[in-house]
Amino acid sequence: MVVGVKTVVQVKLRPDAGQACALEATLRTVNEAACWVSAVAFERRVFREYALRRHAYGELKARGLGSQAAQHVIKKTCHAYATLRANIKAGNLGRPGSKRRVKAESRPVRFRPDAAQPFDDRCLSWQLDTSTVSIWTTAGRLRGIPFACSPDALKTLTRYRQGESDLLHRDGAWYLYATCDVPEAAQYEPSGFLGVDLGIVNIATTSDGAIMAGRKLNRYRRRQRDLRRKLQARHTASARRLLAKRCRKEARFARDVNHYIAKKIVTEAERTSRGIALEDLGGIRERVRLRKPQRVTLSSWAFAQLGSFIGYKALRAGVPVVYVDPAWTSRTCADCGHAGRRNRVSQALFTCRNCGVVAHADRNASRNIAARGKVAWDAGRESRAPATARHGQRLDAAASITASDALAASSVLQDRVS
Ligand SMILES: [Zn+2]
Repeated sequence: MVVGVKTVVQVKLRPDAGQACALEATLRTVNEAACWVSAVAFERRVFREYALRRHAYGELKARGLGSQAAQHVIKKTCHAYATLRANIKAGNLGRPGSKRRVKAESRPVRFRPDAAQPFDDRCLSWQLDTSTVSIWTTAGRLRGIPFACSPDALKTLTRYRQGESDLLHRDGAWYLYATCDVPEAAQYEPSGFLGVDLGIVNIATTSDGAIMAGRKLNRYRRRQRDLRRKLQARHTASARRLLAKRCRKEARFARDVNHYIAKKIVTEAERTSRGIALEDLGGIRERVRLRKPQRVTLSSWAFAQLGSFIGYKALRAGVPVVYVDPAWTSRTCADCGHAGRRNRVSQALFTCRNCGVVAHADRNASRNIAARGKVAWDAGRESRAPATARHGQRLDAAASITASDALAASSVLQDRVS
């Protein structure tokens, strides 16, 4: 069995004015239909796709939806209820009886007029040689809509696109999120390990001495935070909209940075036939919790995202990854092995109280991580991501395929694929 890594490739559509109108009308129509199906599901307490089809399919066809579109609308509605159930179960809406939860449970799920809509191969076809798509709309089939994406993304689309794509309208632009099933490469036997220390001041430091500084990202975040404060103080609907837009923009920016860093690290390990050693994600979160003043600078999701990007890019390239115990990596001397609290003089500086070596703190830590990676590998541990991290990544990828709201999809957007 070939195991694949689910990846979402984003392309930007460039419809002309007439085509954009048709796309907009289509999203509006299918989402109105989805709201109607949702009400039926809620009233009759029928949330399974097959059962719901009996109640809704005929009416949807009568409303002028094609059979594919009708089925997708029903499926999308079922997924939305499944997501709601999962959120309630995970406690994301508070305890039983809380205001948010009661509100969510007491009425049908609603869809925004521009909520994302899935299209399968019968409703959407790709002409990759001319970078155009042809797509079903309520105004008939539109042919030859140009799309734009990076050369890497185009390569991935050509080789691995499979199944459904989501049509999305976000901040005035049109996108397709295409699902790609990229096979894992065969893993090689590593000759040594590249240790990677993830941090806040320096986003990533490798045991080779490469330092990816977070100055630019942190400066950007501070500026965004100041802007956010001003907007929050206004309490108007337009300020709220702007705020949401800014949040998305910031997340996109951080994601791009993470993609760039992850790609660099994986490429370097592959080039030198080494494996990658990372600290266990749980440990990273632990550390974020400890450094209180900096917690606002970088939220833990960005850490987890970088870890998961490195993980899946490595998987795809056949680069072995091991996750090591993070305890004392920053307070142990990589040269003599002496461990002591006083070894770490400051955020940036490491001075060994035993052998006197002076080193860049993150670099010293990354060398310890590399050494632990080798020990773990030699001890015969499988080079697999911790079950939770990997499971989480796949869940995200799977969720994005059926994402009924843009937010869920954009958090797992992986457009710059290598
Ligand atoms: Zn030492």
